[in-house]
Amino acid sequence: MSQANTFPEYRGKMEYHCLGCGQHYGIDELYYTCPKCGSVFILQDLTFDELKKTSGQEWRDLFDARTATKKDSLRGIFRFYELFAPVIEEKDILFLGEGNTPIVASNTNLNKIVGIKTAYKNDGQNPSASFKDRGMACAFSYINALLAKNNWDEILTVCASTGDTSAAAALYASYIGGPVKSVVILPEGKVTPQQLAQPLGSGAKVLEVPGVFDDCMKVVEHLADNYRVALLNSKNSWRILGQESYAFEVAQWYDWDLKDKCIFVPIGNAGNVTAIMAGFLKLYELDIIKELPRIFGVQSAHADPVYRYYSVDDPKEREYKPVTVQPSVAQAAMIGNPVSFPRVKYFADKYEAIGGKTSFQVVQVSEQLIMDSMLLANANGHIACTQGGECLAGLIRAKELGLINENESAILDSTAHQLKFVGFQDMYYQNTFPAEYEVTPDSSKSNSPELVIEATLKDSMSEADYISKAADNVVAMLGLEKK
Ligand SMILES: *Cc1c(COP(=O)(O)O)cnc(C)c1O
Ligand SMILES: [Zn+2]
Repeated sequence: MSQANTFPEYRGKMEYHCLGCGQHYGIDELYYTCPKCGSVFILQDLTFDELKKTSGQEWRDLFDARTATKKDSLRGIFRFYELFAPVIEEKDILFLGEGNTPIVASNTNLNKIVGIKTAYKNDGQNPSASFKDRGMACAFSYINALLAKNNWDEILTVCASTGDTSAAAALYASYIGGPVKSVVILPEGKVTPQQLAQPLGSGAKVLEVPGVFDDCMKVVEHLADNYRVALLNSKNSWRILGQESYAFEVAQWYDWDLKDKCIFVPIGNAGNVTAIMAGFLKLYELDIIKELPRIFGVQSAHADPVYRYYSVDDPKEREYKPVTVQPSVAQAAMIGNPVSFPRVKYFADKYEAIGGKTSFQVVQVSEQLIMDSMLLANANGHIACTQGGECLAGLIRAKELGLINENESAILDSTAHQLKFVGFQDMYYQNTFPAEYEVTPDSSKSNSPELVIEATLKDSMSEADYISKAADNVVAMLGLEKK
């Protein structure tokens, strides 16, 4: 059997490591937060250093060989098995088509407008149309393993969500089926119709709480503290592990050379940016990449606690304070008290220790710039969601602030598919944004369908005349000339 089709032999020794009190716990149990101090975990492979016996070149060759695998277990994020969850057995690995999302280089027009080379990594091309599938594939593979081991007859998976977490959780839960039941808790009226339809279609129990995401999170935490449920919010460190695959894929796409690359990531609960930093750090430690790319977190001025923290230059003066969010088109990132904030700090410190002070930065953007940037990207052949628009806005802002050099290029994360958030495009085109969003549409950019012919004419004409009249109208509307 070729290297590509061999399931890895390496098994790590993984433990939960509490970022609050430093306590370690074994992975036989699904821990959510530290039972002792309540802080968040990261999962660590205690034998990670053994992987250093394999050279960077050997790792690169192995991962490149695996792109041709015929094994479903290695087709998705688990192509990078040794790097993130080398305790899950092959039979427990779920593959629903997640990962391997393309990076699409921008056209000349967009690059000229922005002033440097850009590309979008389209994480909306994951099965539930957002990057959340990366984390769920890992978390549910682990749950699958627990189920097999413990012979449980039922496990209730619960999450609070700004929309995409629940869509992904419900999808993977419905795939396993049987003992796995999915419950999702959403802020009423604060997820898009598409995001609401997804868990409903997967057969999850959908519960709505009037309020914002942060309220739903508190409800879920109450459940976690008092009842036996498996929580799938990004406090769940198995999800963070799976999301590291984004970094591995970016590196591999560019043939493991990330010199002069800047990665733009929207920050909501801060799980994604954490995982991306953690992923690049692992590649660097194993000599798989020689240089860390720079990471730019992006937040809207309407939900910007991480930006506020890092906007204070002197690390000793920084103080973390949750904020009250205002409505944001980057709705999936509209979070005032990100649960992964301690993880951001942990990995940002490590990142900066290697890449220098400018290797991790957070920029703040206006709602207006987010919308304008999304429309600009999509008018140039991209499929960016509002959070993807936020990334381009972040790049434009970073350039304005002089944080980017001419020789650098940017990889923008479209964290979901354009169509999930298309209601915001409608509001822009139809000029129906509520004032709180602080978005003023530029009418020259709006687009709407035009009617070719009155439907009532259909009854008064023969079908042939009706079609020919419609065609004449199209000719007039387009100003066509005869050939
Ligand atoms: C969840 C989500 C985010 C925010 O990611 P965090 O990991 O919470 O920071 C951004 N965009 C989309 C589309 C999301 O679903
Ligand atoms: Zn602790």
